[in-house]
Parts: sequence; structure tokens; C-alpha cells
Amino acid sequence: MSRQAGRFAPRLTLAVGALLAAAISVMGLVFTEDLKREQVGDLTRSLFIQARLGARATVLDARALSAACECRATVIAPDGTVLGDSSLDAVGLSHAENHRARPEVAEALEGREASAVRRSATLGVEHLYAAAPVTGLNGRVRSVIRLSLPLTEVARRAGRARGFVLWTALATFAAVLFLAWLLARSVGRPLEEMAAVAQRLVAGDYGARVRGPLGDDERALLGETLNSLAARVEETVGELSRDKSRLAAVLDQMAEGVVAVDADGRVLLVNPALSRLLGIDATQARGRGHLESLRHHGLAELVGEVLRDSLPAARELRLFSPEELVFDANAAPLQQDGCPDGALVVLHDITRMRRLEQVRRDFVANVSHELRTPLSSIKGFAETLLEGALDDKENRRGFVKTIEEQAVHLSKLVDDLLDLSSIESGHRQPKLAQTDLRALAVDVIRHFTPAAAERGVTLTFSSSGPSAALVDFEQVRQVLANLIDNAIKYTESGGRVAITLETRGAEVVVSVSDTGVGIPETDLTRVFERFYRIEKARTREAGGTGLGLAIVKHLVEAQGGRVWVESRQPGGSTFFFSLRAA
Ligand code: ADP
Repeated sequence: MSRQAGRFAPRLTLAVGALLAAAISVMGLVFTEDLKREQVGDLTRSLFIQARLGARATVLDARALSAACECRATVIAPDGTVLGDSSLDAVGLSHAENHRARPEVAEALEGREASAVRRSATLGVEHLYAAAPVTGLNGRVRSVIRLSLPLTEVARRAGRARGFVLWTALATFAAVLFLAWLLARSVGRPLEEMAAVAQRLVAGDYGARVRGPLGDDERALLGETLNSLAARVEETVGELSRDKSRLAAVLDQMAEGVVAVDADGRVLLVNPALSRLLGIDATQARGRGHLESLRHHGLAELVGEVLRDSLPAARELRLFSPEELVFDANAAPLQQDGCPDGALVVLHDITRMRRLEQVRRDFVANVSHELRTPLSSIKGFAETLLEGALDDKENRRGFVKTIEEQAVHLSKLVDDLLDLSSIESGHRQPKLAQTDLRALAVDVIRHFTPAAAERGVTLTFSSSGPSAALVDFEQVRQVLANLIDNAIKYTESGGRVAITLETRGAEVVVSVSDTGVGIPETDLTRVFERFYRIEKARTREAGGTGLGLAIVKHLVEAQGGRVWVESRQPGGSTFFFSLRAA
């Protein structure tokens, strides 16, 4: 974790130490060199003075000069021949090399004082040479006096000074190293802690804070700033995540399907309602292109259109899984700083609305159709009568009878419609009361006995268990009457209609079973629909409106019960309804 921070102290220490040591060394060396130069200069000047003094002597004796000057003395002839040298005996002198080429000698032969520093070929030590011309009265150079000194002392002093400088540099380096290490440690520690806190913040631990003692300088300021930054980040991130979860909760709870895509059409979010509708996995869809993940051509097309035009668009979409659903899809472009940044689509389920519209249209069409038949029949017979049939004594009664029958059918139809409409609009709320269903059934059966007898149909009744139920007496009576009426109507002469009543758990189940024409399997679920008739012509003949069973279903369900039918063809049908036992 403190990979960078851990190296900070040694790096700083080394850098500062090395810099100081280098500075001291350079300064020391420059100073030593300068010192050496000055010493050499002083010595040169002193040698020149001595050489000049020596030149005044009448006899130039190298040994006497050397003794007086405490240095080596050489006397050289104008042609460079060594005439005398304090360090050479007679033999050495005879072998001495011509000195004309020595730079200081060459210059002195020209009449100018000159000096040089070089390693002596004979002694192997660095020497200072100073040469002065000895001129005659005519001003010509008669000879040259050269004095020389070994620079051992100067070199020794310079070496000592250099050593001192070196040791000082080393000691300074060590001291600086130690001091810098102490300093770096005191700066590095808090820095390391701050770096650790910053890294924890980056990793999402927004509760991380700098705690250690930070002193009262910039480190404390930096630490405090980092802490307030962390607090700010924690607060902001908290707010953001609260907002995010609120938004997620809203999206999760929405009945409307919602999908958002980015500017490239990649899915950003799909709420649960939409993933349920489209049968897609929201997590898998995220980040993928809308065309492949939405699995609905119309929806993908709508998204593409909004992304392309950056304008809101709306469309009605249909889904067929498993039943047909209709959606009002509203899409809007998303913007970020005024630039297009994707699209948002909200799908509002309008299936129920569309279905109700369809039901209303069907209902109006059905009602018109149902009314037209008896009305045109009445109109037809009335016209026939007016056009002369009134005088047809044999048939006119039959015509009027038909008109009366159609009028009765019409009024029954209107009564049933009004009934149904008042039940559906909630005007006929059941008035639940303790009711003895057995007594109710017996009463209704008694009412239908003459009609059954007239059609040659036998009515039977049986019951088992308690028969008390919490129901609306009048409505249950209407339900049972409707079912018995149908059973008698659709049963041939000689047939039987059996009514039973039994308790099943918390329910009382009433059944009306006949030995009549029965209901085809395919029609079983539909007989409770309004105006649904199996064979229109025949049932209308039987005086049916196709509304009876719809009324039955509404009345039973309004009381918390269920109604269903079982049938065999041939063999007859059995209608059941259940009610809450009291
Ligand atoms: P309707 O007034 O025409 O009888 P219902 O709603 O009571 O209207 O019945 C709907 C249709 O269900 C009838 O037209 C008839 O074809 C069929 N149906 C009802 N009850 C029976 C039954 N007991 N046996 C055979 N078919 C029946």
C-alpha cells in the first residue's frame, strides 16, 4: 500500500545529503586549488626577488646562491649550457643537458623573467622554477639564473586541505543524512497515513479518516483538508446512493415498463415490469445493444427513431406473450449538458382500456342486433296487417299473437339489459343476510313445477348438510330461477331436472342438473358471456336473450361465490354455484 510513500524518506534523505556533500566537495576543492595557486605565486615572487639579487653578484656561483636562497640554483649560459648547478657535482655538470629548451630558461634568455611548474625529470617531484636574466651593460643577456624549489610542502598542504575538505564533506553528508532522515520520517509518516486514507477512500471506504498526531503545520492542514474532503465525499456518496435506491425502488414498483439506453443505443436500465413483459433478464440486457436485448422489433425501432431524431415519439405497441397486450409507448430523448445522451421509453399497459372499448363496441353492436330482430318482426307483421291482412279473419289473430310474442321478448330483453347494467354499475349491491338455502330452493322449485309439468319435465330436489348461507335472498332466488328456467327450456319432454344442495367445507354448493341437449365442450367457458348463445335460432325460439347466465355470474360473484358448468353431449348439463356458508 505504501509503495510510494515508503520510499519517500530515504529518497529525500539521499538527495539532500548527496547535494550538500557535493556542494562542500566542490567548494573545498576550488578553495584548495586557489590556496595552492596563491602559495605558488608567493613562492615565485620570492624566487624572482632572490634571483634578481643574485644577478647583482659579480661572480655567479650556483652553490653560494643555493646556500643563500635555500633552494636549488642553476646558472645558464646564453646558449643554454649549464654553467653551474647547486645540485650537481663536476661530473654531473659535464653531463648536464642544454637548458635552452626549458620554457622559463628560453623566456629568460629573451630578457624576461619567467617561471614554470613541472615534474622534475631528475627527482620525479613537482618543482617551481623561476628564471631571471643577468644582463650586461649593453643590455644583452649574459647568463640566466634559475632558482627552483620542490613543491612538496605546497602539495602536502594542499593534500591536507583536500583531506580536511573530504572529511568535512563526509561528516556533513552523514549529519545531513541523519537529519534528513529524521525530517523525512516526521514528514513521511503523516504523508504515508494520508496516502493510506486516500487509498481507502478510492477503494470505497468513505469512513476512512486521518487520525495520527499531525503537528500544527502544513501536515495538519493537509490532514484536516483530507478529512473534510472525506466527510464531504461520504455525505455526497450517501446522498447519491439514497437517491439511487429511491429511484430504483420507484422503478421497481412501477407498473409501467421502463427502458433507458445511452447515446450508442446500449441498454442502461430495464425495470422489473419491462423485463417481465419482454421476458428478458435485466442484468444481462444491461450494456448490450437495444436491438439484440429488447427482443421487440417495434420497441427497438422506436428507440432507434428517438436516438436518430432527438425528438419525443409515441407509438402503440403489441406484445403476444402469452396473450395479446397493448401498450402506449412514450419515448423521449435524454440530454446531458444540452447534448443528446440516449433515450428513455415508458410503456403504459392499455390492454384493459382497449378491451373495454372493444367490449363496449361489441355490446352496442350486439344490443342493436338483438333489438333489430324482434323489431323488424313486429314491423313486418304490423305492415302486413295494415296492407289488408286485418281483413284476413283466419290469420290476423296469429299475426297479432306473433307481434305480442316479439313485444314480450323485446321487453324481456330490455329488462335483462337493465338488470345487467344495474348490477355491473354497482347499483345492486347484495344485501347479505342469514338465509336458509333449502327453504329458498324449495320455494323456487315450487314456482317452476307447473311449467316443468307442461313441458313433460320432472323436477327433483335433494339436500345434505346444513344449508344456512350469508347471501342476498332475492339475488340467489333470481340465480336459481334462471338456472332452473334454462334447464327446463333446454330439456326435451320426458327429461329430468335435478336440483341438489350440499355443504363442501366453508361453502354451500347448489347444482342444477338436466338431461337436456347439453353444451359442446368448446362453448363451456363462453356460455357466461353476454349474448352468447349456442344455437341462436333455436334458443331465440325458446325465448332466450343470451343474458341470463351473464346475470347469474355477476350476481354470484358479487356475493363472493363462484359459478361453473359441466356438460356432456348427449347427457345434459350441470350448472353449479357456490356461496359462503353461514
Ligand atoms: P338464454 O336466455 O338464451 O337462455 P342464457 O345466458 O341463459 O341465455 O344462456 C346462454 C346460452 O347457454 C343459451 O343460449 C344456451 O344455448 C346455453 N344454455 C344455457 N343453459 C343451458 C342448459 N341447461 N342446457 C343447454 N344449453 C344451455
